[in-house]
Amino acid sequence: MALAPNVYDAEPIPEAAKAEIDRLLASGDLFRYTAPADAPVALLEREFADMMGSKYALAVSSCSAALFLSLRALDLPFGAKVLIPAFTFAAVPSAVVHANCLPVLVEVAENYRIDMADFAAKLPEAQAVIISHMRGHTSDMDAIMALCDEAGIPVVEDAAHSLGTLWAGRKVGTIGKIGCFSFQSYKLVNSGEGGILITDDADLVARAVIMSGAYEHNWKKHKGPEGQNDPELAEAFARWQNQLPLYNQRLSNLSAAVIRPQLAEVPRRVRDGRANHDYVAAALNSSPWLSVPEALGPEERAPDSIQFNLVGFDTDEEARAFAAAAEARGVKVQVFGLSTDNARAFWNWNFIPGETPDLPQTRAMLMRACDVRLPPRLNRAELDFVAGALISAAEDIKGETRAYGT
Ligand SMILES: *Cc1c(COP(=O)(O)O)cnc(C)c1O
Repeated sequence: MALAPNVYDAEPIPEAAKAEIDRLLASGDLFRYTAPADAPVALLEREFADMMGSKYALAVSSCSAALFLSLRALDLPFGAKVLIPAFTFAAVPSAVVHANCLPVLVEVAENYRIDMADFAAKLPEAQAVIISHMRGHTSDMDAIMALCDEAGIPVVEDAAHSLGTLWAGRKVGTIGKIGCFSFQSYKLVNSGEGGILITDDADLVARAVIMSGAYEHNWKKHKGPEGQNDPELAEAFARWQNQLPLYNQRLSNLSAAVIRPQLAEVPRRVRDGRANHDYVAAALNSSPWLSVPEALGPEERAPDSIQFNLVGFDTDEEARAFAAAAEARGVKVQVFGLSTDNARAFWNWNFIPGETPDLPQTRAMLMRACDVRLPPRLNRAELDFVAGALISAAEDIKGETRAYGT
């Protein structure tokens, strides 16, 4: 019998990183602002911005730091309400609270995407919006941008799971005012920890750069599209000199050395991740008990995990029994709402001021939505193992013979 694949290990870091890390270790040049120009972090920022077709990028210590700096760069007043989807990782409401703002949770539908009626109803009270494309599921960005543009409300995209995802041919993370990405080990590009934000707005990036810890004139080492002396960027930095606090959320040169050679791997990881996901999704959808929601029409996905809903599982006990049966067959399933203290269940975000909101739609989804890691490096035999284990686990609980339409 085939062995259960290990879905937690990352891919090896490309060989090319080693020579650069040796060079950095030999010189001790680990701080991004020591070299007069072209430090690995500055080169990473330029390469990432060019890859995304954005004017500016700022690499920082995490995606959480990128989200926090985005909100601070928007200069929101103390206590400003920021809409976020109720299905995301606890880091997102945490970044909002860290920026002295108040998260307002928006209902998420059975397909893991933002419920646009609830979004439109709550938008008038908001001063900013974070669209968290949780697990890479893109919400209706056309509808969201139309509503937010009309109301003059800035959109920050949490694209931590969306590197390589397209919406109507546009790169996710470039649709809102700022896009934030993660280089934590469970994301498509892995440096253990790290994050990056991208934007076309010189003032926003200048504010974020200074607050990330570019004290004194270190901002001069940041490059715009015109290189190190980009005039638009220099003017923006001059406006904000000495006006902002320094939060010191910088990235180290060592992390940049690990990230840079992985950027060339992104297209392959996206292609393989999408093919793997679609292969397993087709298998799961052949079971009457499992359902993988369709992406919205304009979306081309770049998944490194798969989410599906349990169908006809009437009780939480049945859903828990499914997760146990899958684990017994070698595949770990997380039912978002059923594992204790899950960081993606909004009722566990007790650090948000006020009462836990009543969000019945999101809650019902989380009680039956399953999460399985599916790294792009898995081969067909491993994918067959995962799909087979999940389908058999559902049959363990619900029985094998259920005629359609009865
Ligand atoms: C991982 C993740 C984050 C946080 O990223 P860090 O780099 O670990 O801070 C934020 N949002 C989503 C959707 C994530 O998956």
